[in-house]
Amino acid sequence: MKQRKIPLRMCINCREMKPKKEMQRLVKAADGSVNIDPTGKMPGRGAYVCKDKECVTTAKKQKRIERAFGVSGCDYLYEALFEIVVESSDKNRAEESSDKNRAEEGGDKSTSVETGEKIMTRETNDKSANG
Ligand SMILES: [Zn+2]
Repeated sequence: MKQRKIPLRMCINCREMKPKKEMQRLVKAADGSVNIDPTGKMPGRGAYVCKDKECVTTAKKQKRIERAFGVSGCDYLYEALFEIVVESSDKNRAEESSDKNRAEEGGDKSTSVETGEKIMTRETNDKSANG
């Protein structure tokens, strides 16, 4: 049996070399716009980021896409990436819960970074009925 070399691509964020299937390709088109490349075959200058929630989060914080392509305002790309990585991680999970409502995940006890959630305490209004 022959073992083919797996083509590796470097993540623009963590700089790790990973197989293409574990990466999401981004491409800068001729007109200068940067897009998600779902097929991995779009013409233009390409860059890769891990299909990993934490990696996308960090990439957004560090503006990795902007830096990689020399552009600005790529928030929509990070949003799209999030959808892709969340979806793919959902598929990996077994369909254990038969909940109708797909609640946002947040019950993770692992050491993931919390997204700055603050518990808002509501001030109870005093009833000033006495006049
Ligand atoms: Zn990465």
